[in-house]
Amino acid sequence: MPERQDPTLLTGWGGTAPTAAHLTRATSHDVAEVVRSAGSRGLIARGLGRSYGDAAQNAGGAVLAPLPELIDLDPGSGVVRVSAGTSFHHLMERLIPWGFFVPVTPGTRYVSVGGAVAADVHGKNHHRVGSLGNHVVDLDLVTADGQVQTVGPDSQPDLFWATVGGMGLTGVITEVRLRVLPVGSGHMVVRTERLPDLAAVMSRMREADRESTYSVAWIDTLATGPRLGRSVLTTGEHAGPEDLEGRALRHRWTVPGEPRVGVPSFVPAGLIARPTVRAFNELWFRKAPRDRRGEVQPISAFFHPLDGVASWNRLYGDPGFVQYQFVIPDGSHSLMPDLLARIARAGHPSFLAVLKRFGPGNAGLLSFPIEGWTLALDLPTSPGLRALLHDLDREVVAAGGRVYLAKDSRMSAPTLAAMYPRLEEFRRIRARLDPTGVFQSDLSRRLSL
Ligand SMILES: Cc1cc2nc3c(=O)[nH]c(=O)nc-3n(C[C@H](O)[C@H](O)[C@H](O)COP(=O)(O)OP(=O)(O)OC[C@H]3O[C@@H](n4cnc5c(N)ncnc54)[C@H](O)[C@@H]3O)c2cc1C
Repeated sequence: MPERQDPTLLTGWGGTAPTAAHLTRATSHDVAEVVRSAGSRGLIARGLGRSYGDAAQNAGGAVLAPLPELIDLDPGSGVVRVSAGTSFHHLMERLIPWGFFVPVTPGTRYVSVGGAVAADVHGKNHHRVGSLGNHVVDLDLVTADGQVQTVGPDSQPDLFWATVGGMGLTGVITEVRLRVLPVGSGHMVVRTERLPDLAAVMSRMREADRESTYSVAWIDTLATGPRLGRSVLTTGEHAGPEDLEGRALRHRWTVPGEPRVGVPSFVPAGLIARPTVRAFNELWFRKAPRDRRGEVQPISAFFHPLDGVASWNRLYGDPGFVQYQFVIPDGSHSLMPDLLARIARAGHPSFLAVLKRFGPGNAGLLSFPIEGWTLALDLPTSPGLRALLHDLDREVVAAGGRVYLAKDSRMSAPTLAAMYPRLEEFRRIRARLDPTGVFQSDLSRRLSL
């Protein structure tokens, strides 16, 4: 049985609401025993702490981080067996030289496989391939009774679809069998376009649904009036050897490296303020090409530009920041200009704001994606922010949309219930499987999950 550490202060990536818990790192072999010995305050699994809020925290209880142990690819079937504690970074290091890539990647590769399944993460290709859960063959789950269950879309589908997107509340995932994607190199062929306003970017993104495997737009959320929603859209495809020349061809199977720079632990207060963000956004928009096609970029530059800077979340200082990510269905697309205008008028600075298209969602009871438009914004905590997000929540609910649990740190239980129509089913499965509440987190208590 691995040692339980003294209470450790934990936060999500946004750095808000730290709480202390006993953290244990365990091999797959030891997970069941740690689960069986969870005390009355319960236990939650933790990956690499990249969810923004309190999903992987458990104040006064236990937090269990499975260790990375195994990556075993069967190239014939294109299925990898991987332990839940393995990071996407390490998985990519192994997969790319074999000619494979993860089927879905979030905007950082410093997430664990277990954390990615528990949040049912989506990438820039959701409109084509759905979210990560769609590519899981099956997984091993240690449930509240300390038993290991193998669940998949064909065996125990109820438990599988409660676990995919279930934020660790059905048990601890120890191993995942994942279908991976054959690729021709470690590079991408990229098109970058500057678009003058929201109508232009939304129309181009609809076309990109048909033309491109990957697409995402960066939006200047401080631009108002006729420039509301001005954007830089990037679309891309995996490059084959025929797309490469020179250095890129010589390093055909290049793998993502470690961060090149880091942010020091002390950062002056108020760095992310409106004037700095306005200047950054202006520069970022102007420096983007009007329409550049056929640029070859390494996978890391296309998918994970922020991973080049270690601990960039420290730029927000001690008060931390919130990521607000919502999705509204296609039928409510006309609401997007109103929502964006409201955000721009409120003037909360965000230099990381991305717009994506989602295709149809899957059967995950608490999975976030539904067909439509999703906008994600990083916002420093500041007076008035809570009220703004509360208002936006109301609009999102009225439009039939929802907020992403992996990014949330502030929503209320009634708001969540209004957003996720299958919440009661999820609660029933949990009550049957875990009647004494072994699995708990700060998030599950805040949202009465
Ligand atoms: C810069 C950045 C960009 C991002 N971009 C995207 C994006 O494009 N798309 C997207 O979907 N998400 C994105 N995210 C969110 C991120 O992908 C998810 O929050 C993911 O869950 C983080 O994985 P983690 O290993 O850090 O998990 P943690 O944050 O440690 O935990 C997240 C949840 O997973 C559960 N969990 C962790 N391990 C296990 C396990 N072994 N068994 C059961 N449950 C477990 C935890 O209990 C918790 O509820 C981004 C985050 C950052 C910081």
